[in-house]
Amino acid sequence: MDILKSPFMSDMTRISREIYAKGWGEANGGNISLRITPGEMHAYLHCLTSGPTVELSKAVPELAGDYFLVTGTGVFFRNVAEYPHESLGIVKVNEDGASYTVVWGYASGGRPTSELPTHLPAHATRKRVTNGESRVVLHTHATNLIALSFVLPLDTKIVSRELWEMMSECVVLFPEGLGVMKWMMPGSEEIGQETAKMLEKHALVLWAHHGIFGAGKSMDQAFGLIETADKAAEMLLKVMAAGGKKQAIAAEELKALASTFGLTPMAGVLD
Ligand SMILES: [Zn+2]
Repeated sequence: MDILKSPFMSDMTRISREIYAKGWGEANGGNISLRITPGEMHAYLHCLTSGPTVELSKAVPELAGDYFLVTGTGVFFRNVAEYPHESLGIVKVNEDGASYTVVWGYASGGRPTSELPTHLPAHATRKRVTNGESRVVLHTHATNLIALSFVLPLDTKIVSRELWEMMSECVVLFPEGLGVMKWMMPGSEEIGQETAKMLEKHALVLWAHHGIFGAGKSMDQAFGLIETADKAAEMLLKVMAAGGKKQAIAAEELKALASTFGLTPMAGVLD
């Protein structure tokens, strides 16, 4: 079986195209990682090679033995579908979780995204809190969410409430709210650890003045979460530009909506 025709590869190229079409992936902005289980990789083992091994500054024993399809550093989303072998690579986290080995891709001498120190702890956290369901971590420069981080207080509860009020879907898709972080140095270990901590409670984490991190069990779920939050942010910006809210979905209505779906909204947001 050809690894370039695998379901995980077509998921990655399809969503990369979508991100570029949305205007969220200018130049080399954004990065994606997708966890592939050893079982899923079994049919493609003949396509793998053994490339360089890289020590991790912080071990991720939760991910030992897992494979990750990861966008390369400096890669343009618009080129991923056309040049997958150059734009993407697969890394395997080694048995002690303290290093990874490149086993496929990055054909023109590339490397995994410089945000890998954020992606791996993010996967470790989401894998644990979702009992192994979470598979995708997607970072992109969602325009409206970034814009919103300049005008709203950088507070998880305030931003979550504002987004929930814009569209009925929001409280249903992210009842745990959207975690908000202040601006931090991209690619640093600090931003990786802080993001992983936020992902304990939230599938969506906003990096102020930079972008969004979304996690999900599939590429569509992670992308859909970001797309919905960004649309709510777009509407909020339009409402602000039009002179501000005159009315909105009330707290009691949001609680009733969540309860219809058997969901509990993040505590303290609707009180
Ligand atoms: Zn970024």
